[in-house]
Amino acid sequence: TTFAEFSLNTLLLARLAELQYLQPTPIQAHTIPSILAGKDLLAGANTGSGKTAAFALPILQQLMKRTNVNATKGNFVSALVLVPTRELAKQVADSFKSYAVHLNGGIKVVAAFGGVSVNTQMLALRGGADVVVATPGRLLDLVSTNAIKLSAVTTLVLDEADRMLSLGFTEELSQLIALLPKKKQTLLFSATFPEEVRQLTQALLVEPLEVQL
Ligand code: AMP
Repeated sequence: TTFAEFSLNTLLLARLAELQYLQPTPIQAHTIPSILAGKDLLAGANTGSGKTAAFALPILQQLMKRTNVNATKGNFVSALVLVPTRELAKQVADSFKSYAVHLNGGIKVVAAFGGVSVNTQMLALRGGADVVVATPGRLLDLVSTNAIKLSAVTTLVLDEADRMLSLGFTEELSQLIALLPKKKQTLLFSATFPEEVRQLTQALLVEPLEVQL
């Protein structure tokens, strides 16, 4: 398999060539076509598998085709990525920005995580964002002040879902999920599948593609 077979935008393909991503990793090969087709995903994947690009590339591709909800001036977000830690939030946001580097600033990516002042993140979210990568607690804070609105989310990613739950974010997660539109695409990545994760997948995913790598 090659990245070109996924019919990704040439600007994304050019970036992958620069990054010397010569071919998709197994998780990318197995999930990108299905994500592009709009299907939900349940993926068993570890760090180092290339899971970030597996969701980031099709999300960027889909965002490029969409009409811009940010034009409504509200603080809306289209793609929401929830992660367990601030380090991962920064890393995943940086990956999105790196893949989008040739898209001429057409894609706005904001990282929102705790432990730093909320003001910079509130300012960054003004006028909305295409992609928000967030830890659950800080995202709830931002929602409570209307710094971000979740009612226009079209894609939800739960990255490292098992870690998110084991770190105690269960309550925050269910509060956040309740604020999202019912109709959306959901992608869930987890290294392990304890009972709590399985309950979450049943509540959240609709006829997902299941991939274990
Ligand atoms: P991840 O599992 O998402 O944390 O990615 C692990 C590392 O693999 C990151 O440094 C990525 O930049 C890199 N990577 C992801 N996909 C590919 C690929 N198709 N070819 C080469 N490197 C990749």
